[in-house]
Amino acid sequence: MATTEVAHLLDLWDRCICPYCGTHVREGARVVSGDAREGGFCSIRCHSTYYTFELAARADWSATESSQHA
Ligand SMILES: [Zn+2]
Repeated sequence: MATTEVAHLLDLWDRCICPYCGTHVREGARVVSGDAREGGFCSIRCHSTYYTFELAARADWSATESSQHA
């Protein structure tokens, strides 16, 4: 995970904002993976959608990257 992304997620965590949909998240109602650096989401749905997209984007990027060296 990129440092800037961690900083972004921590900033949203401090402000109690869901990184995926931007909704204010009540303290204590956050959906977390167990680490503040991974963000605090308003729902399981936001959490899984956020990480599904991120992992898909990362997979695309590494596929592109490795094909350039093939
Ligand atoms: Zn959300």
